[in-house]
Amino acid sequence: MISLLSDSLRVGTRRSFLRGASIAAAATVFAGVGAAAEAVVSAADRERMRALAAWTALTFDTPNPVPYGADIFDSKSGERLMRAANAVGPEHDPSAHGEIHAIRLACAKSKSASLKGYTLYTTCEPCAMCMACALWAGLDRVVYGATIADASRFGHQIQIPAAEVAKRGDMTCVVDGPVEREVCLALFTDPRMQKQLDRWKAGR
Ligand SMILES: [Zn+2]
Repeated sequence: MISLLSDSLRVGTRRSFLRGASIAAAATVFAGVGAAAEAVVSAADRERMRALAAWTALTFDTPNPVPYGADIFDSKSGERLMRAANAVGPEHDPSAHGEIHAIRLACAKSKSASLKGYTLYTTCEPCAMCMACALWAGLDRVVYGATIADASRFGHQIQIPAAEVAKRGDMTCVVDGPVEREVCLALFTDPRMQKQLDRWKAGR
């Protein structure tokens, strides 16, 4: 059961969480938090982030608990293309952060190196590596939950805001967040996550 769950978490699913545009068309609200106060965040964004956080929390009961999950949706239709969690441990790959893992699987599935027309949701603000990959993939938009500053309380981080990385590129990618920050932050503070966080902090 654990391995099945782990597999499904790693390969993601095509099942669209949202049904059509009805939720996507829901009223928009302003994030109103910190530097992203100008960002327009929709009710669908919040719903997707909460669902992603809940799915990511399922990893807590697997051998590879992680607070990092990522979802890729068609920006227009709202259909999910791919969902993945951080797989650095099981893949023995330091670049297998949730965002990059999802991007790789999404590109493989669509047999294209371009994710133009898609939006990436991630439970934590992308690090410089992941944000650069989002730009190279041509994603329209990145929406994040907890901030890099939040995550840095629990382990190593590269302190470059995702919006700053996006600004330095000549690709167009909107960066919105934090969205459902407290919900995503709870992934880091969950008691089931603490042993793993301690291991990461110790470099193991
Ligand atoms: Zn990353």
